[in-house]
Amino acid sequence: MQSTPFLFFLSVIWFLSGTTGMAQAGPDRPRLVLQITVDQLRGDLIERYSKGFGEGGFRYLLDNGVVYTNAHHRHANTETIVGHTTLATGTDPAVHGMVANVWFDRKAGALRYNVQDERFRILGAGGVDADTEIDPTQKAATTDGRSPAAIATSTISDEIALAFGPAAKVFGVSVKDRGAISMAGHAGKAYWFSKSTSTFVTSTFYGNSYPDWIKAWNGANKPARYAGSSWKLLLPPENYAFAGADDQPWETDFAGFGRVFPHPFGKSDSKYYSTFLTLSPAGDELTLDFAKSLIEGESVGADEVTDYLAISFSSTDYIGHFFGPSSLESEDNIKRLDRTLADLFAYIDARIGLDRTLIVLSADHGAPEVPGYLATLGIEAKYFNFADIDRQPAIDALKLEFGAAEELIEKFSQPYVYLNTKVIQERGLDRALVEARVAGELSKMPGIAYAISSTALRTGGVASTSVSTAILANFNPDRSGDIYIVFEPHWFVADLEGLQVASAHGSPWVYDTHVPVIFKGPGMAPKRISRRIETVDLAPTIAAFLRIKPPSGSRGTPLVEVLSD
Ligand SMILES: [Zn+2]
Repeated sequence: MQSTPFLFFLSVIWFLSGTTGMAQAGPDRPRLVLQITVDQLRGDLIERYSKGFGEGGFRYLLDNGVVYTNAHHRHANTETIVGHTTLATGTDPAVHGMVANVWFDRKAGALRYNVQDERFRILGAGGVDADTEIDPTQKAATTDGRSPAAIATSTISDEIALAFGPAAKVFGVSVKDRGAISMAGHAGKAYWFSKSTSTFVTSTFYGNSYPDWIKAWNGANKPARYAGSSWKLLLPPENYAFAGADDQPWETDFAGFGRVFPHPFGKSDSKYYSTFLTLSPAGDELTLDFAKSLIEGESVGADEVTDYLAISFSSTDYIGHFFGPSSLESEDNIKRLDRTLADLFAYIDARIGLDRTLIVLSADHGAPEVPGYLATLGIEAKYFNFADIDRQPAIDALKLEFGAAEELIEKFSQPYVYLNTKVIQERGLDRALVEARVAGELSKMPGIAYAISSTALRTGGVASTSVSTAILANFNPDRSGDIYIVFEPHWFVADLEGLQVASAHGSPWVYDTHVPVIFKGPGMAPKRISRRIETVDLAPTIAAFLRIKPPSGSRGTPLVEVLSD
């Protein structure tokens, strides 16, 4: 008897909510999920370089959002595809399968680039031909085909497509193919910047023709507008911590671009013109400009059905690799990224409404300091040379012991050592023993903190520590190598897939795992949270906020501070 008025009350609520026409989306469900990933943005850098920030960019997020100051990737190999896919899937590389930017495909006997797929060629539009040689980061790809097929689980973008049906629009945009493809998932569409043509491209995985708005964007040749100009400081020198430290010997002196301001872009037909654009804030400005055209051209966020747009900004990463995170270039880049974000948020507010948008900002990994810079502070740091590792006396002694005439270490591809399987089979050697002995010798070498055998790892033969747990989170039996190498803190191989650079991330140490995590969505009150969280928590938090199911391999925990007000 008592329940009757209550049921009547409920049915009135039900009726009222039905008449608003928002039954499916719900009045508090966002029209757009905007997932921003800033490549190589270490967790401390926003605050560190905040002098001179404007109002609508980082400040909007810091002052209004839920800000996590102690967020970390928990996998060991803090590389770009690994971090992006972890943010997208809410799980570890052991499960989503993207264990490294490049891994050794034993069946094919060749290195394999994470999103390469010979079945899906780059979609030609006015003679687009992706010349991967010009892009040092894609040197390992043996085909210009691309797809997300190697991602083993669903992404949050996939789940949005599944939950809201064909009316949900799902996109990923980045200068980097892997930055766009990972976030767009299997169900979305990915667009990235081709340095060989200075246009945004996609592959036949996503469709067989370009929509008119992309043809128009590429036809306008916006990248050429930077020709003859240069990257100059945004603000007067007093706003910069590194104003008096522009010219440093450890910075990469890329011919034509130089290591001091102003950095000239040169002529638009010169060989490295588009590379220089991406090695400056111009790369992010072009990404933003393309994203705006996408929002307009595809009517993103225009109706009550939740859409998803991922934007991965790549300039911070290239600039970090070439100049280090503690450089005038990195400092100016962050201040310019602040302006780029303010421009993006103003555009979204005008078209969709920031009050109808869930923004999630993070990074795929952090950034190590350059050894030369650390040396000026008395901190030991060095580059490790892996090229001659198989000819070291300790490894030669093992060859003698095992009766191996050929090399024992076939390949090192960050972070894994691959042993010579042929020698092991021909000599009838015990694989686990060879792994253990080689790992034992490697771990004694200066600069190597741990060398962990995969067999030992999966048979429980390794003590449980924070590092071994991170390596296990990275272990995928089909793709991981035989021995995982962890260098000492501040040591690394400074090889950006073939090109010598100032610094390279990829370690399980804090400077590489620490990333910003900021949520800003409808109804959220500003908070600053210092407890440790992990990047696997992002995707399940977005799912919980949208009241949909998390991605298929999700291992993270929804963040309570985002979900409660
Ligand atoms: Zn990256």
